[in-house]
Amino acid sequence: MNLILFGPPGAGKGTQAKILVDKFKIVQISTGDMLREEVNARTDLGKVAKLIMDSGDLVSDEIIMSMIEKRICKSDCEKGFILDGFPRTLKQAVDLGEILENLNKKINKVIEINVDEELLIERIIQRAKESNYNRGDDKTEILKNRIFVYRKDTLPVLKYYKEREILNTINGMQNIEKVTKDILELLKL
Ligand code: ADP
Repeated sequence: MNLILFGPPGAGKGTQAKILVDKFKIVQISTGDMLREEVNARTDLGKVAKLIMDSGDLVSDEIIMSMIEKRICKSDCEKGFILDGFPRTLKQAVDLGEILENLNKKINKVIEINVDEELLIERIIQRAKESNYNRGDDKTEILKNRIFVYRKDTLPVLKYYKEREILNTINGMQNIEKVTKDILELLKL
């Protein structure tokens, strides 16, 4: 089972992805986590990525696609994977389609975790307060930019999957357990 978890910053994608990983024994592929590993390891890529991430902008499609291409052909993806935080641009979605086609794989479902903007802002501010150290990108000043970028670059991805009839929307404004329950219900079908 290959899934995409889709939603704005602070929607709870990471939390739900981890629950699904445990339950279905599939792997989570988070481009945000992969980038943060590069930043912490102080690689050249990490140095470039840090500046961009700290401003709330998106890292280039080229960097992201080369990371994803390498990751997705690893053998631990055979049983299935959850993409978390990717694709974030239309170009990434289209390129992903090609990569998967070449590997004879496909995305079974895209799960959108839908959250009101007001609640999102509240959540991200809270997260920024709790841990400011590893998530320099959560500073409240750049919050607006992240949401702006989401609207401009990432929302078109939703339309792309809607047209392909694999988009499913879950109400993310419920407690964690209820969101999980709704996702599991959806995966039974
Ligand atoms: P969140 O879960 O809060 O939405 P992520 O951890 O997924 O954030 O991503 C943090 C930052 O890493 C993004 O703001 C962006 O700069 C960069 N990033 C992560 N994934 C991608 C992607 N698919 N394309 C471009 N940039 C990305």
